[in-house]
Amino acid sequence: MATVSLKSINKWFDSSQVLYDISIDIEDKEFVVFVGPSGCGKTTLLRIVAGLEDVSSGEVEIDGIDVSSAHPIERGISMVFQSYALYPHLSVFENIAFPLRVAKTPKAKLQEMVMRAADILRLTDRLEHKPGQLSGGQRQRVAIGRSIVRQPKVFLFDEPLSNLDAALRGEMRVELSKLHKSLNATMIYVTHDQVEAMTMADRIMVLSEGKLEQFGTPMDLYHRPKTKFVAGFIGHPKMNFLSASCLSIDSDGVKVELPAIGKQLLPVEPLKVNQGEELEVGVRPEDLMLSETGKGLPLKVDVLERLGGSTLVYGSLDKYPNFCAMLQGDANVREGELVNLDVNPASIHAFDSNGNAMKRRQVPEILK
Ligand code: ATP
Repeated sequence: MATVSLKSINKWFDSSQVLYDISIDIEDKEFVVFVGPSGCGKTTLLRIVAGLEDVSSGEVEIDGIDVSSAHPIERGISMVFQSYALYPHLSVFENIAFPLRVAKTPKAKLQEMVMRAADILRLTDRLEHKPGQLSGGQRQRVAIGRSIVRQPKVFLFDEPLSNLDAALRGEMRVELSKLHKSLNATMIYVTHDQVEAMTMADRIMVLSEGKLEQFGTPMDLYHRPKTKFVAGFIGHPKMNFLSASCLSIDSDGVKVELPAIGKQLLPVEPLKVNQGEELEVGVRPEDLMLSETGKGLPLKVDVLERLGGSTLVYGSLDKYPNFCAMLQGDANVREGELVNLDVNPASIHAFDSNGNAMKRRQVPEILK
């Protein structure tokens, strides 16, 4: 059993505040990812959980016990860093065994624990190698192995895959998800890569400038972002935003004026929106399709990226120069031409002038 609760965490470095009143409860065996752009405070928060950084105010609880002033060793955590931090002169076996040697673990037990970790991480045939003879992914697995043998209550990962190439990152994502299932442990993982967050997390905490934007499941964040920031951060390619004046509000939703296509009713809960207010409308590239009627959003195509299974179409729409549509397959589109795009109004997101999302009335099946 290892729950982690962060209670009203604030952090200042000298006179500058970098974390603001962060409170979340992480459940036993959960895989939680802290994600956000560079400098948003995610590593500082992870280091606070680890005890490598003090809180300025607030509490860290592990299994219901306040550990805010406990030494890192007393917290039952183990941290894997981006830089691997392996000993180059020691073999893979000895690198994994290192914490057990420090703890004076009996030889037979040490052997059994290292072999089990090596087996889980598929390193059994590399145990005699030195780190310099390993690939990046293998080195990262050794660092994880050293963490596993400590049998921590909570695993902490600080951008562990960012030194790897794209293909290896993809493989390691799958391996880490499998590892989480086989160890049945609580894990907290820091990354700036929203794809890593979406693919591995049970729940994701999105941070922006030290503030918690949203904490929820990947699909909740994707389909029901609470803020424009989360909507723009989660999803690839990024959501398109258009400003649209609020024409009227009634029980069916909000009517707005969209570029070129004119009046459109959006089936959303209007929150505290006023008639005449300038709203932001969000359309995901993958929610757009080529119009068969010749009506719809007019996009002047600048660049095509043909990916085989889909085609990314970049161009300008009205006053928006960086609009993107993701069309299925080998879309029949050419650079330089004008195409019209349809979008289902139920998939459109709307944000008030403070960037707060209006709840969509029709939620996808997966959230019901
Ligand atoms: P990155 O993805 O670039 O690692 P991050 O989201 O992990 O970024 P942090 O490293 O937590 O961000 O840093 C958050 C803020 O705190 C930044 O503005 C950073 O400059 C500042 N900061 C971090 N450590 C210190 C320190 N020891 N002293 C002063 N400021 C610090």
